[in-house]
Amino acid sequence: MKVVIDVDDVLLDTIGAVLRVHNSRCAGHPLNRSALNGPRVAPPGWLRSVHSFYDNDEMYPRLVQPMPGAADTLAAIRSKHDVVLLSAFGSNDTTARKSKCLERHMPEHAGLLVGCVKGSKAKWKADVFVDDQISNITDYRSAHRDAVTVCIDQPWNQDPSAASTIDVRWLGVVEGNPGLPALARWLTAL
Ligand SMILES: [Mg+2]
Repeated sequence: MKVVIDVDDVLLDTIGAVLRVHNSRCAGHPLNRSALNGPRVAPPGWLRSVHSFYDNDEMYPRLVQPMPGAADTLAAIRSKHDVVLLSAFGSNDTTARKSKCLERHMPEHAGLLVGCVKGSKAKWKADVFVDDQISNITDYRSAHRDAVTVCIDQPWNQDPSAASTIDVRWLGVVEGNPGLPALARWLTAL
């Protein structure tokens, strides 16, 4: 089968790096992941931290760490399936910095990375689509009704109303557990 897997906050702990940058800048307003749970007023200083991180080519490969078990999860999935690592970007193409980060932490998988413009992930047809953004999963389900969609749990995607309107499997629930071992077990059993 063909499996398309998102990179940020699925295989790489991107938001963890942004939180570290923020908490070093705004020591009086430390945040953790669970503060980022869906629609909200941005905490003080958060947007500035986000922009300083994403506007900087050097920070991403230096600060972003892999999710626990990411490389092993990919190796297990690749033993049975064709994998594409599909990562979207906005006005600036950030594929090169993500590629550098993957080369640093999991070089055996870095060649699978494909960059695409935000909102265009559905152009890559797959049997299984893995992401952490409900909007990406909803778009993918609209374009490929026969694909299985998998959401890797993060605080910002815990929306029961979305889960009732799309066909999605939820893997991993606990903060700090990105659900990757569960993803590997489920996919290698198919
Ligand atoms: Mg993501």
